[in-house]
Amino acid sequence: LRSDNCPPDVEVLGRATWTFLHTTAAYYPEKPTPTQRANMLSLIRALPMLYPCSHCASDFDERVKEHPPNVSGRLGLSKWLCERHNEVNEKLGKEKFSCAIGNLDERWKDGPSDGSCD
Ligand code: FAD
Repeated sequence: LRSDNCPPDVEVLGRATWTFLHTTAAYYPEKPTPTQRANMLSLIRALPMLYPCSHCASDFDERVKEHPPNVSGRLGLSKWLCERHNEVNEKLGKEKFSCAIGNLDERWKDGPSDGSCD
């Protein structure tokens, strides 16, 4: 059994990276400044150049080129990222996630209304 102190494998690194990306998108401004947009675009474009899983990175790079990042605001960005994650889910035979903003906010920002994450 791998302990939490082991170096991350593809799965652990993936979960941590998606957590960072979806959470950052959930808190991205509704109306970002040009600088915030440019920074988000740089972050997304840098990812496939640096991500330490080369087959993950090259696939992601192709998908980002096919679907240019929507950095216009948090709704567009959250949905764009959800769709890219779903493409990876599909490739890995995992279930698709609903990209409705209510569903994304519940998972990454607000938690469910029953208070179980409060
Ligand atoms: P994850 O896919 O890590 O998802 C974590 C949580 O996010 C889920 O539990 C769910 O609550 C939520 N979630 C699921 N789908 C969505 C969505 N569409 N939008 C919002 N939230 C969602 N692994 C490979 O084996 N091969 C690859 O080519 C590969 N490419 C990757 C590319 C990138 C850019 C990243 C970040 C990861 C990649 N991974 C790849 C890792 C893979 O996507 C998973 O992170 C890993 O398999 C662990 O999966 P998981 O079932 O724990 O859930």
